[in-house]
Amino acid sequence: MEYQALFLKINNSLKGFQDSGQVANYIPELAKVDANKFGVHLTTIDHKQAGFGDDNEKFSIQSIAKVLALTLAYTFEDEILFKRVGVEPSGTPFNSLYLLETDQGIPRNPLINAGAIVVCDVLMSHLKNPKADFLKFVQTVSGNSAISYCERIVTSEKSCGYRNMALVNLMKTFGNIKNKIDDVMDFYFNLCSIQMTCNELSKTFLFLANDGFCPVSNKVILSPSKSKRINSVMQSCGFYDEAGEFSFKVGLPGKSGVGGGIVAVHPGKYSIAVWSPKLNKKGNSNKGIAFLERFTTETDTSIF
Ligand code: GLN
Repeated sequence: MEYQALFLKINNSLKGFQDSGQVANYIPELAKVDANKFGVHLTTIDHKQAGFGDDNEKFSIQSIAKVLALTLAYTFEDEILFKRVGVEPSGTPFNSLYLLETDQGIPRNPLINAGAIVVCDVLMSHLKNPKADFLKFVQTVSGNSAISYCERIVTSEKSCGYRNMALVNLMKTFGNIKNKIDDVMDFYFNLCSIQMTCNELSKTFLFLANDGFCPVSNKVILSPSKSKRINSVMQSCGFYDEAGEFSFKVGLPGKSGVGGGIVAVHPGKYSIAVWSPKLNKKGNSNKGIAFLERFTTETDTSIF
């Protein structure tokens, strides 16, 4: 079946789906998003495309951007990076402080908030103009110079980012933050504010489906080995304390964000992005997961 027709079929089959989720409301700007938006876009490494619904509408990719920050930091630091941040699933919520105390300020992985904040700190030590240089990297990987931060979201998150400030302060006491806290957090909040459409997001992650080579920009972003490892971190840590369940249901490496987006990658085949703003209790898109579960089932493309 054509992907387009399949998207329609899956969407129809989800008409009765009772979405008890809620739009993220701890960030005031995200609370304003229309809960009924839904988009999906697939891009294959052999240049096939299919989209459905609101797949050309921008949304806040939030934590999905953590994978891009990790990618760039990994190119600078190689394996040394993992002295400051682990690669184990945390089994805790994305903004948890819980394990940091016992783990001496070393976050379990780079895809929870604490880990991404350390990655931001690492990037700040390598980049001359961190925000501008990082955005340039994202624009290169996405093949789209119009990708940007959203100042409105940055301001909104800063107004209520108490937990993230607690995380960075705690890590500073353990010596795992080298730069000024306010600068690191300004960078982190900007990272989370990046806006993309499902269409753009699926293209941006294509390099991870293609052994680190970006077919959009025709550039080597990562070595095949590093690309494999980023996928492995997404597989085990991309959905916080729901990573096992996502793996169980969907069977692909992926990453979610509290804006309601999910991107998932099939190494050697495709990258797919979905957007549905209502989140479950773990902060992951409810309908997004349901859609991807059916998609990998219908196409028989779980990696397992
Ligand atoms: N910006 C959000 C935060 O720091 C990112 C969380 C997420 O997408 N899971 O809380």
